[in-house]
Amino acid sequence: MATRNEILTELGLTPTWRLRGAIHEHPREDAQIASPALTAREPAPEVGSGSVGAEVGPERSARIAALSWDHFAADVDACVACGLCKTRNKSVPGVGDVNAEWLFVGEAPGAEEDAKGEPFVGQAGRLLDNMLAALGLARGRNVYIANVLKCRPPNNRAPEPRESDACRPYLERQVELIRPKLIVALGKSAASLLLGTDATIASLRGRVHDYRGVPLIVTYHPAYLLRNLPDKAKAWEDMLLARRTVAASGRRTVAVQTPPA
Ligand code: URA
Repeated sequence: MATRNEILTELGLTPTWRLRGAIHEHPREDAQIASPALTAREPAPEVGSGSVGAEVGPERSARIAALSWDHFAADVDACVACGLCKTRNKSVPGVGDVNAEWLFVGEAPGAEEDAKGEPFVGQAGRLLDNMLAALGLARGRNVYIANVLKCRPPNNRAPEPRESDACRPYLERQVELIRPKLIVALGKSAASLLLGTDATIASLRGRVHDYRGVPLIVTYHPAYLLRNLPDKAKAWEDMLLARRTVAASGRRTVAVQTPPA
C-alpha cells in the first residue's frame, strides 16, 4: 500500500498542495448533499416564465438524441429548458477528445467555467488535471470531460432535480457519441444521475458499476478532495481501479443509436 506522501506525489500535489483560501467551487460531497438542510440553497429561477421551459418533453429528448457533434454545442448554448439559461454567462457543453476512452462527469460549471465555457478550469480542475497526469492522461487526449449540468447554478448551489432532468438528454447523447470504455462519475450529482441512486459516494466507490453497458466508476469530486485530504488516497485507489478497468476492456460497449427517422 502506497504511503500518503507517495500518493500525493503521484497526484502532483506535493510539496505545494495546501488549501490556503476558501474553496468556492462545489464544496459539497456526501454529507452535505445527502442532507439538503445543511446546504444553503437559493431557489432556482422559475421555469415557465418567458420562453424558459418552452421546449420540454419527449420531442426535445428525441431531437437531442439525434444531435451530431457539429450541432451539439450550439444546441446546448440555445437551450432554455430550465431557468439556468437566464443566469449563465456561457454554457459549458464539455471538452475533450470525442473518441476518448475515458469520460469524466462532474456536477456543474462554477464561476470560472461559466466565464470560459469550459469545464473544470478552476481549482478543482487543476486537481483533476493532476489526477489525469498521474494516470498518463490529459484533457483532450483520450479524455472527455462533461458535467451533469451544462449551465452554472447561481452561487454554485446543488443542481435542482428539474435542472438535472432537463440536462440529462445532453449527457446521454455525449455518452452515445463518445462511446467511452469507462465513465468516471466525479461526486454525488454525477453518480446519482447516472446510476439512479441516492447512495453515498463511500458506498458506491471501490467497484465497477454499469451505465447502459459502459463500465462506470464512482469517486469523490475534486472540489471535495481539496477540502478532505485523507480521501485523496481513496480517490487514487479509484483511479487505479479505473485504469485497470479500461485496460481490461477490449472493446467499446455502447452501440450508437440510430437517430429517429
Ligand atoms: N465542478 C464541476 O463539477 N464541474 C466543473 O466544470 C467545475 C467544477
